Amino acid sequence: MVQHFIDNKFVPSADGKTFDTLNPSTNKAITQVASGNAADVDRAVKAARKAFDEGHWPKMAAQERGKYLRRIGELIEKRADEIAELEIDDTGIPISQIKKGAIPRAAENFYFFADIATKITGEEFLVEGKFRNYTKRRPVGVAGLITPWNTPFMLETWKAAPCLAAGDTCVLKPAEWSPLSADKLAHIIQEADLPPGVFNLVHGFGETAGASLVAHPQVQLISFTGETTTGKEIIRNGAATLKRFSMELGGKNPTIILADANMERALDGAIFQVYSLNGERCTAGSRLLVQKNVYDDVVRKLEERVRNIRIGDPRDPATEVGPLIHPEHWKRVRGYMDIANEERASIVVGGDRPKNLSEGNYFSPTLITNVRNDMRVAQEEIFGPVLVVIPFQDDDEALRLANDIEYGLAAYIWTENQNRGKKIAEGIESGLVWINSHNVRDLRTPFGGSKNSGIGREGGHYSFDFYTELTTIHVALGSHPIPKFGKT
Ligand code: NAD
Repeated sequence: MVQHFIDNKFVPSADGKTFDTLNPSTNKAITQVASGNAADVDRAVKAARKAFDEGHWPKMAAQERGKYLRRIGELIEKRADEIAELEIDDTGIPISQIKKGAIPRAAENFYFFADIATKITGEEFLVEGKFRNYTKRRPVGVAGLITPWNTPFMLETWKAAPCLAAGDTCVLKPAEWSPLSADKLAHIIQEADLPPGVFNLVHGFGETAGASLVAHPQVQLISFTGETTTGKEIIRNGAATLKRFSMELGGKNPTIILADANMERALDGAIFQVYSLNGERCTAGSRLLVQKNVYDDVVRKLEERVRNIRIGDPRDPATEVGPLIHPEHWKRVRGYMDIANEERASIVVGGDRPKNLSEGNYFSPTLITNVRNDMRVAQEEIFGPVLVVIPFQDDDEALRLANDIEYGLAAYIWTENQNRGKKIAEGIESGLVWINSHNVRDLRTPFGGSKNSGIGREGGHYSFDFYTELTTIHVALGSHPIPKFGKT
């Protein structure tokens, strides 16, 4: 059974309740997981509070904390195979994408933030002869880290690493559909010998464990990754205790293929960007905008390639798309096919369960054409292996369509003309744009969304804007005049 990790101990829920976690390839239970509620969250927050208020962690030099973080990174690398197996069984993400992508990146998150935390400095503002004013960053307190089920291990480490590097303590609440790799992270952190209470983990559902964490008065920070609707609810629920929020939310990201693009590379990028990670990816380029004079050719090539995508057992190294996370999510994705039909779009490839995979949550890679940008299939995040294709006439129309949506997380532009690409990129209302590339991350850069895709940026030194508090210290250098109230 998987338990909570509170104050350096693995413990069951106070009320003994558990839930099953399912293998998406079979929908059979893998194991039971402790189901946390307000009492468990309170215990975890109190442990984190004590570690912050009375412990050494927030007072340590960043170099010293960095040693712990590097040890965590090394243990992740050492246990990479075990973590990969858990993650595959729990999420259905294909082994090639877990082993080459998510796990090395998780270790890198710890190495990177261990290093960059030592480079965080304040600023100095000299008022000649009068004042030396300077800023100092200090840890904030207890952070609640709430994560989704897509690439769970990578996202949990993406939050825990900067949080711990900054000197905060935390309570992680992982998604209920993918709790296993978070349990492994807690074991690794225990082995890395972090002081008790610095990192705590409470499993459970959003409405119980998650909501209690958000409402807890002793938690100052909430870093949340998940759906936009959940983010809005969390902000409402955290208002009474005035939390600071970092919100990484949904997306319906445009990929723009201009007629002058290198078509081979553009297709490679566009296809990988939406069908990798089973299409369950916040930065998926799930809305493909193609210039009219190459539209027919692009669609013909896409049809052929999408039909050939290898869907199947996520443990098979040749598999490109595995099962969706959960039967409920499968139904949601399948529901969008009915919507596509009602909207008179054309499902030209896929749209349902593959005939040879009767068990599990498999959903065929799907291509939808005859789409207008105002249709629901073009505006809403489907979060599955589903690509909609929309034609455009010229660059102005491409930009208008790209921005005509409530989301603004990522965008991808394919063109051989850098100036044209840059002009569109600079007009796009999103947090991230790639020109002639799929999503290749540089951890030094700010990551996050605009519009309904998020609030704030994490990554590089930007993470410390969230995880630290800034104090401005004003030091008088001489005897500047002070009004003499009450002096006779
Ligand atoms: P979700 O919003 O359903 O759940 C995310 C987490 O929030 C889970 O741990 C859940 O238990 C918890 N939660 C739910 N209700 C809560 C509440 N009332 N209070 C506190 N916690 C609560 O999201 P999901 O379905 O797990 O993940 C998919 C979504 O995440 C997609 O929309 C995707 O785009 C988004 N996402 C965004 C990014 C990004 O960086 N912008 C990255 C990955 C995923």
